[in-house]
Amino acid sequence: TRTINLKNRPTGKPELTNFDITTSEIPAIKQGEVLLSTKYVSVDPYLRGRMSDAPSYIPPFELNKPIASGIIAEVLESNTSSFNKGDFVSGMLQWKETQVAKADGLMKVDPDKAPLSAYLGILGMTGLTAYLGLTEIGKPKKGETLLVSGAAGAVGSIVGQIGKILGLKVVGIAGSDEKTEMLKSEFGFDETINYKTTENMSEAIGKACPDGVDVYFDNVGGEISEAALFNINKFSRTVNCGAISVYNNTKPPKSISVQPFLVKKSSLMQGFVVFDYVDKHPEGIRQLAEWLSQDKLKYAETIREGFENIPQAFLDLFEGKNKGKMVVKL
Ligand code: NDP
Repeated sequence: TRTINLKNRPTGKPELTNFDITTSEIPAIKQGEVLLSTKYVSVDPYLRGRMSDAPSYIPPFELNKPIASGIIAEVLESNTSSFNKGDFVSGMLQWKETQVAKADGLMKVDPDKAPLSAYLGILGMTGLTAYLGLTEIGKPKKGETLLVSGAAGAVGSIVGQIGKILGLKVVGIAGSDEKTEMLKSEFGFDETINYKTTENMSEAIGKACPDGVDVYFDNVGGEISEAALFNINKFSRTVNCGAISVYNNTKPPKSISVQPFLVKKSSLMQGFVVFDYVDKHPEGIRQLAEWLSQDKLKYAETIREGFENIPQAFLDLFEGKNKGKMVVKL
């Protein structure tokens, strides 16, 4: 079976040469283990952090060892009472076509309730990040203005829709006219900004948010987020969910000083890591599934095909080539 490993650590933008593919025999399964066939692989911006050896909230990948991410797999053989042959499971698994895994840590997913790939997106970590980041830190109130960056991506497109469900005015920032059009027509965003064709972002945000920004859900960091600061309201909340625009930086970026903005507006800015809210995950999934079944939430996916194309799909996140959740189907 084939495995994708971290061959060397990237400097700046990750490249295909950071990965390699090796072939190995599949070991026999022991008590408490299952043999799994990979069906869908999630590629996520946070994996960039794990390719570096800098300390973070999850340990780095080891060199010449498999990369791992959220995966949906089919059980081929089972040596545990928890799963049967033919079940589908989700878990943090390795980038392998076939693998042996411990049963604990895996969760059964039901292909009759939702398409399998949805368990990596709206009904998985992506949906939880959107829901818990927005509600736990953003604390949105009806009638407020929510600004979302990375709005056409997996997390951002869900954040905006939840904002609409909760009665907010929602403004999204994304990197193409096709994406901003999708935000309005598919996901019900009120206003959008294409940051790639906008010269003065703080002015554009001001125009799109005439009453100011009450909640800023930040997926990108950098200059876009600096521009947002000029528009925050008194007692506003910023959810620091991600900072993809600076993940590949090799030098510390030049940036403005955040503190005076926060002081002047008694504003809160707080980092968010979805794994810190594990006790709230079941309730989050229940709520997301309910909204999905009521057609209040929709989701977009970009599905690539082929095991060997997983690294390219990952790299394409940094070029904005995805709409909604990027997954690879085997
Ligand atoms: P996305 O689906 O949003 O994919 C990444 C998107 O980022 C691209 O489509 C692209 O869209 C945008 N992008 C890429 N480069 C830049 C740039 N230089 N400036 C601005 N935008 C850029 O990924 P996810 O939804 O999975 O993740 C979104 C964010 O949330 C990431 O920062 C991620 O790290 C973070 N995250 C955090 C979690 C947590 O627990 N804290 C959990 C999950 C995700 P465009 O065309 O608009 O540029």
